[in-house]
Amino acid sequence: MINLVLFGPPGAGKGTQAELLINKYNLKHISTGDVFRKNIKEETELGLKAKSYIDKGELVPDAVTISMLEDVVDSNPDANGFIFDGFPRTTPQAESLGKFLSAKDMQISAMLALEVKDEVLVERLLNRGKDSGRADDADESIIKNRISQYYEKTAIVKDFYSAQNKYFGINGIGSVEEISVRLSNIIDTL
Ligand code: AMP
Repeated sequence: MINLVLFGPPGAGKGTQAELLINKYNLKHISTGDVFRKNIKEETELGLKAKSYIDKGELVPDAVTISMLEDVVDSNPDANGFIFDGFPRTTPQAESLGKFLSAKDMQISAMLALEVKDEVLVERLLNRGKDSGRADDADESIIKNRISQYYEKTAIVKDFYSAQNKYFGINGIGSVEEISVRLSNIIDTL
């Protein structure tokens, strides 16, 4: 079983690459951002809790995010493996995920981190905002806040997986296909 953490700042291409990898490796894709957006649209209790944070480009509190993630994993007992996209975003989330998976005799195989410069990220997100319908992609100050949250709270999660020799940095600049090949080359060695 392969369980991957697809990592990188907002706009690094995690969602795009996850879509290609799920087909190639027959994995279940869990994007915490997508689950939040679906809940906001359906006006669920979880959606109401998450909305105010997402609108400002801040992280949703760990307790809310962790329990939501665990529910999604539990509701896919037959999955061949998972791609976690946008999770874990804090060290407590990474620690919880490790404990939760090991109680099921599972573990993270690797963290694959897409590396992209900030200027490119802002440009990509503003472009995506033109047709993604995501309010948090349309406003440059919210985008910048998301990128600063990444450096303040999320980038450090790299150390958690580096300490377990599971961290792989990948150049996230190039065509979608080129980047996908770089990711596959690593996954095929796991
Ligand atoms: P994303 O689609 O991954 O860019 O996530 C969009 C927004 O959802 C983020 O800016 C956060 O507000 C929230 N979010 C998604 N995943 C997490 C997470 N693991 N922890 C906290 N907040 C999250």
